[in-house]
Amino acid sequence: MTRLTFLGTGTSQGVPIIGCKCKVCTSTDLKDKRLRSSALIEHNGKKILIDAGPDFRQQLLRENIGNLDAILLTHEHKDHTGGLDDVRAINYLQKKILPIYCEKRVEESLHREYSYAFCEIKYPGIPQFNINIIDSNPFNIDGVNITPVRVYHRKLPILGYRIGNITYITDANKIEEHELKKVMGSKILVLNTIRKEKHFSHFSLSEAIEVAQKVGADATYLTHLSHQIGTHKDLSNCLPKGIYASYDGLSVETE
Ligand SMILES: [Zn+2]
Ligand SMILES: [Zn+2]
Ligand SMILES: [Zn+2]
Repeated sequence: MTRLTFLGTGTSQGVPIIGCKCKVCTSTDLKDKRLRSSALIEHNGKKILIDAGPDFRQQLLRENIGNLDAILLTHEHKDHTGGLDDVRAINYLQKKILPIYCEKRVEESLHREYSYAFCEIKYPGIPQFNINIIDSNPFNIDGVNITPVRVYHRKLPILGYRIGNITYITDANKIEEHELKKVMGSKILVLNTIRKEKHFSHFSLSEAIEVAQKVGADATYLTHLSHQIGTHKDLSNCLPKGIYASYDGLSVETE
């Protein structure tokens, strides 16, 4: 069994956006409150987090998560890495260093952004990460097989991840055919879309639907949603069969 819980489903600014008075940002529907995109995958008794954005603390508190086995990072943008200082709580509770899996370029970014966590003489109480460099080849974490999927975020090569029958892809606007083969057969697909209109670095709604239909998973959930895509209700009403709008707190599972 593999379960995915959406910790956040919003684009980089989150929804509501500070100061915005639009219909989506002022909606009282809890499904329109979108924290920065992140997901927890539970597989074979392991808890693996994908991305740790600025809302990491709030997300772990809301879902009552006190332990993690690893964090996989898709890329270095702050909406996916900005919460890593709060790994301190996990270090303290589990009394261990938390493994992070990312590409070399992302590691270099973490060294810059969290320089205090990597210095020779460590200040007490700083976050403790153990970085494992990966590429687009499959790897294993304590018996859990992970298949990275190479996708492009404008020109930036970043990673999606397949664990069991669930594939999670965010911040993409291009996937090459040979990489899409790794996604084929997934029962659940998570895919990013930011809005209906074309965007330079994210799938538009119609582009995401096209990829989803090509993969043909039993269910595809859309994430990394901006306020421009509309309310959860409006978006849900315009999606084809088998494609759903995700929302914060939604949990889905498959064999
Ligand atoms: Zn993002
Ligand atoms: Zn708005
Ligand atoms: Zn990004």
